[in-house]
Amino acid sequence: MDTAPAPAMTLDHAAEELRRLFGFTDFRGVQSDVIGRVLAGQSTLAVMPTGAGKSLTYQLPATMLDGTCVVISPLIALMHDQLRSARANGIRAATLTSVDADWRETLDAFEAGELDLLYVAPERASQPGFRDLLSRAKLSLFAVDEAHCVSEWGHDFRPDYRQLRPLMDTFPQVPRLALTATADAHTRSDILTQLGIAEDGLIIAGFDRPNIRYAFNHRDSLPKQLARLLADEPGPGIIYAPTRRKVEALAEQLAAASGRPVLPYHAGLPPEERAANQAAFVASEDMVMVATIAFGMGIDKPDVRFVAHAGIPKSIEAYYQETGRAGRDGDPALAITLWGPGDFAQARARLGEVGEERQRGERARLDALAGLVETAGCRRAVLLRHFGEDPPETCGNCDNCLEPPQQIDVTELGRKLLSAVYRTGQSYGFGHVQKVLTGAADDRVVQRGHDQLSVYGIVEGEDARLLQAVARALQVRGSLVQNEHGGLKLAGDARALLTGEAELMMTRPPERPSGRKRRKDQTPNPVGDPLFDALRALRRDLAAEAQVPPYVVFHDAVLRSMAADRPASLAEMGTISGVGEKKLAAYGEAFLRAIREN
Ligand code: ADP
Ligand code: ZN
Repeated sequence: MDTAPAPAMTLDHAAEELRRLFGFTDFRGVQSDVIGRVLAGQSTLAVMPTGAGKSLTYQLPATMLDGTCVVISPLIALMHDQLRSARANGIRAATLTSVDADWRETLDAFEAGELDLLYVAPERASQPGFRDLLSRAKLSLFAVDEAHCVSEWGHDFRPDYRQLRPLMDTFPQVPRLALTATADAHTRSDILTQLGIAEDGLIIAGFDRPNIRYAFNHRDSLPKQLARLLADEPGPGIIYAPTRRKVEALAEQLAAASGRPVLPYHAGLPPEERAANQAAFVASEDMVMVATIAFGMGIDKPDVRFVAHAGIPKSIEAYYQETGRAGRDGDPALAITLWGPGDFAQARARLGEVGEERQRGERARLDALAGLVETAGCRRAVLLRHFGEDPPETCGNCDNCLEPPQQIDVTELGRKLLSAVYRTGQSYGFGHVQKVLTGAADDRVVQRGHDQLSVYGIVEGEDARLLQAVARALQVRGSLVQNEHGGLKLAGDARALLTGEAELMMTRPPERPSGRKRRKDQTPNPVGDPLFDALRALRRDLAAEAQVPPYVVFHDAVLRSMAADRPASLAEMGTISGVGEKKLAAYGEAFLRAIREN
């Protein structure tokens, strides 16, 4: 475009504005590429993982360009969250939603050219009157958030998104910026077509979330394991449980055991209670939400310190999306999955309920997930490879990289176990099979004549201790399945294992199961430090007064820098990352006073 300004110059200017408005020193990742294109008037599809800083790629240009940036966003709650954060940084923003009472003011400001950002939902944007409304003022940019909603290939198709292209086509001079965190190749090219963006407008950031630590543990005593997690992780967290009943039971147990605020969330709760619980979570600095996967969509809480799964997720995609809700602020966060072999057994049993065609896809999904759970290598590498990247072999920030597990060959033991299952008639649970193999003098074993079998007492010593883990490995792999009464039965490649055509490797189970090490580096907030605590208390007061969540005032990282650097003047405070002009003016003096007094 011949009217495009020289990118280098505008990017320098953008970097200055980044410091002035947001208080950030540098762009992150592909932000500068995206912003460079937007400022040059080029339409773009940016695929950036959660927490990569998508909103800044339109908020910042919106303040620099002449006219208003129209943001299409699918959820009212998300819009209002964005609105609060933008306004806190001194950006002139407004929303036009059914719950807003200030329509008149918003429309006046828009027509007077006094708005940087105007947020609307796709349903509104697709109404005929909206086009007329937009034509009454100068537009700088169309920003389409959650752009995968425009594609039927995406996981969240919203038909109203299809009306966006005709709308935008009536303003051909206004560039478009589509944003999404999740889109495979197919969906990406569909978004480009559906929104009328040229192919060379695609910018993809890596999928990696380096501040999230991935860990998997066997589930032995769920309430105890979670109580320990809550003791180790003082910040806000989400625990995903498989059923409503489980959610309620766990929330109750954990609230009693931990003394922390713990609330339940699932689709069966009355809408008011759900909304209240969600609002309380967003505003809290230490709350734990026990939830079904109904919870998460539309939550933009940046300081979630952990996401725990009390059972396996549905797929790697679901796992990535759910764990991705941790650590959006870039601070260290933990994603821990507590799993049992029964999770896989049940998921595999459910495969039978769907049609042939879907079964193949579901099975592949489950196998991929089992690969992640079972790997002795780097979890992050498995995840990133799944998304088509070519990551390094180790990351240094997952359980397996931090404490490499030992791989052992248990083919022989696995064969003994399968054989015992077969010879006892494929209807007994693990406990009985274990007694037979270890030669226990047990009434039931004797009554059934199982002490007469050739497999009776053929496992002893160290091997006997490994049996449970081997049974687990066989179930994850699908070589052993459970019937509805817990009875084990051969399946999958069990025959190949028995005949010596396949082998069985597994990670050596830890001596003491589930001994999760305390991770000092994962709780970087110096809670208990009088100054830090005072800064937090001040933040809470200011947030309550402004009726916004505490993180809208300042993120934890900003408070930590203040506590560490002890700025003594407004100028010094202004150099802290995350302290922009507006926030410095609004809160600077109050925080300086707190620093002087503590
Ligand atoms: P996304 O929408 O991509 O998930 P957000 O736009 O919510 O991410 O940004 C995530 C967090 O990163 C926000 O708290 C934001 O303030 C912060 N952030 C964005 N860009 C930068 C940057 N250049 N430097 C430091 N922090 C940033
Ligand atoms: Zn790793």
